[in-house]
Amino acid sequence: MNSKLLIQSAENLKKAVPLMMKYKVPTTPLNYALWYTYVSNELPTLNEKLDHLIANNDICPPVQSESLYREFVADKTEASTWALRSGIDKMLIQLDQSLTDTHNDTNTFRKSFEKTFVDINRVENEGLSVEEVIGLLKKLQGDSKNMHRSTSFFCKSLESAKGEITSLKTQLEKSQKQALYDSLTGLLNRHAFDTELSAYLQVKHQGLCLILADIDHFKMFNDQWGHLLGDQVLKAVGRKLNDSMRNGASAYRFGGEEFVILLPKSKLRIARHFAETMRKTIEKLSLKDKRTGEKIKNITLSFGVVEFQKGEALSDFIARADQFLYEAKRLGRNRVLPIL
Ligand code: GH3
Ligand code: MG
Ligand code: MG
Repeated sequence: MNSKLLIQSAENLKKAVPLMMKYKVPTTPLNYALWYTYVSNELPTLNEKLDHLIANNDICPPVQSESLYREFVADKTEASTWALRSGIDKMLIQLDQSLTDTHNDTNTFRKSFEKTFVDINRVENEGLSVEEVIGLLKKLQGDSKNMHRSTSFFCKSLESAKGEITSLKTQLEKSQKQALYDSLTGLLNRHAFDTELSAYLQVKHQGLCLILADIDHFKMFNDQWGHLLGDQVLKAVGRKLNDSMRNGASAYRFGGEEFVILLPKSKLRIARHFAETMRKTIEKLSLKDKRTGEKIKNITLSFGVVEFQKGEALSDFIARADQFLYEAKRLGRNRVLPIL
């Protein structure tokens, strides 16, 4: 790096750190990279999105920050896949070399054994002396020791490869767990929701609403139309919900046929109205069964809406939304509760 670049990097870092402190951004390597890129002003779209995020959320939500980092700063998935692949490649090359060595050694030993056996035949045919016989036996003993050494080295390589494979597997499982998105609907997943919600609750924020939504009679739908079409409904509902997100709101797949929406800087009345709009959008949704061409309508959702109460536990916050959702189901479904 030349000195001009070095000075520039130091300047950027000097700008990035106070900003991160101002917005209470946790000082993780990922956030450093993100905010460093922000102050460098190289990617206007990133700056615009980060500005929006801060303006709409009060805090810098970790999952959405990570999403921006992945989109703009680094392709993390690619990096970890690459590391994983190069680990496996390295291991295979080592194993291959070890196997070739053992194979070569075995060939040498075989030839040596064969020669010793010819020599042993000479004991009978030519009547070798005791010293000569002992010499042959010693050679045999030496060869078999070498052979043992070579194969046990190969066994050790195999053993360490086993360890390596286990650790690569754990690494892979971990990176899968760290995935932010649900593979069916493309929405942020439950893990992302948990991370984001606890970040809100750790930092002072102005009002946070939570909307829990659940597809009505979905078991019956699956029974009537089949699970595959059920999956199409989940995808379509997910897409509609995602398209409806405004002002910092984000939708997650909570699990099964349940969705959750977080609305930062919001009051119950506004969140309720927001849920009502989503309800009406979904109600209008119409899908086609590709096999029969039949139209599928009447897909509806029930909603429970809550506003965070100071000092409330995270589990209570969700449980209150769940109670309203339950009440919406009990009153006939396809509705938002509370009524206010
Ligand atoms: P309610 O109106 O009370 O919510 O009734 P429901 O049938 O929707 O609720 P219930 O909890 O009895 O059943 C949920 C159903 O959702 C059962 C399950 O088969 C279905 N489901 C959950 N996840 C998936 C999925 O990924 N794909 C499909 N096709 N169905 C799913
Ligand atoms: Mg359910
Ligand atoms: Mg349901």
